[in-house]
Amino acid sequence: MKKIDIDKISILPNATLKHAMQTIGVGEIGAVFLVEKNGNFKNLLTDGDIRRSLLKGYGLQSPVTVIEKKDPVVVKFGTPLNEISNKFNDKIKIIPVVNNLNQIVDVHFKDKRAQIPVTNPFLDEYEIELLNECIISGWVSSGGPFVKKFESLVAEHTGTKYAVSCSSGTSGLHLALLANDIGPGDEVIVPTLTFIATANAVRYTGAKPVFVDSDINTWNIDPKLIKDSITSKTKAIMAVHLYGLPADMDSINQIAKDYNLLVIEDASEAQGAKYKNKMVGSLADMAVFSFFGNKIITTGEGGMIVTNDKYLAEKCRLLRDHGMSKERRYWHQVLGYNYRMTNMQAALGVAQMGKIEKIIEKKKTNCKRVQRNIRTFKRSYFSR
Ligand SMILES: *Cc1c(COP(=O)(O)O)cnc(C)c1O
Repeated sequence: MKKIDIDKISILPNATLKHAMQTIGVGEIGAVFLVEKNGNFKNLLTDGDIRRSLLKGYGLQSPVTVIEKKDPVVVKFGTPLNEISNKFNDKIKIIPVVNNLNQIVDVHFKDKRAQIPVTNPFLDEYEIELLNECIISGWVSSGGPFVKKFESLVAEHTGTKYAVSCSSGTSGLHLALLANDIGPGDEVIVPTLTFIATANAVRYTGAKPVFVDSDINTWNIDPKLIKDSITSKTKAIMAVHLYGLPADMDSINQIAKDYNLLVIEDASEAQGAKYKNKMVGSLADMAVFSFFGNKIITTGEGGMIVTNDKYLAEKCRLLRDHGMSKERRYWHQVLGYNYRMTNMQAALGVAQMGKIEKIIEKKKTNCKRVQRNIRTFKRSYFSR
């Protein structure tokens, strides 16, 4: 059972929804305790409870008492563990232990060892504020100030000259390949262990993905095996940084140099990770981030291509917007796509970039906790 600071995540009945949301953000359990001044425990409020009351039309300044909720499940101090375990179900995941004065003295959690999420989105009132701006201003599509702002924030954070936003990580990978004229008859090297989008993007262009096995320790592409898969048709290597761990970029870049290949980083899962003190996304010819809900930061759906090459960045912009000429509206010289990001997505992105360092810190803490607990789990499991 994890030790938590109960006071830190307790709020009074006169607290606002905004305060409750902020307090949830401070804690680690995704909920707050609603407690009277004398310590009498009233209820457990989750992220979902607050969101539902906002959807009903209450504002961030409304008191938390507007939340309608059944009485919480609690147990008296001294209740046997098996009795407590029986009270958990899909809805009840947190059970406070109370004393005779109904004050919380301990908390029990449903055992989550079997289902650790890759990530949870980290959203608060700042996202709501910027999203509101889009709705009030009417800038909901891909025009609007947040798109450029988000692009420049990501470029700056990655340490690249250019960033081109797009509708998803997958469309970003597709654009990156197209910008380099990769198509039918070409081959692109991809790791065996990745999300399918890496290989799909290659297929969209008509090129062939060639799978190279992954390293057993890092789960990333094994550079020692790349050379054997290179043919006269090979044009590029897709280097995936799986689960936030950078691939062996020095070796990959050396092979690319020797064989005159392009390197595209699929950094979908690794924004903010560093490789030898350099940011992931700045380690090859081009790189792509994803902002799906389970990535480092999220815009709901969304992606970003980063590069130091002005020509490639411009080409991605052109292809992203139906191939429409910058000088002449509705003049289309090449086959393009609608892969644009909306101002609403970018608003979330701008808000998320304001807390990316905090998110990464949290991920590192979580990583240490998982490693520690898996170690304990393994030990107790195998000694049974
Ligand atoms: C998520 C992910 C993608 C695709 O991103 P979407 O934004 O979901 O299209 C591509 N590659 C990897 C490794 C991913 O994890």
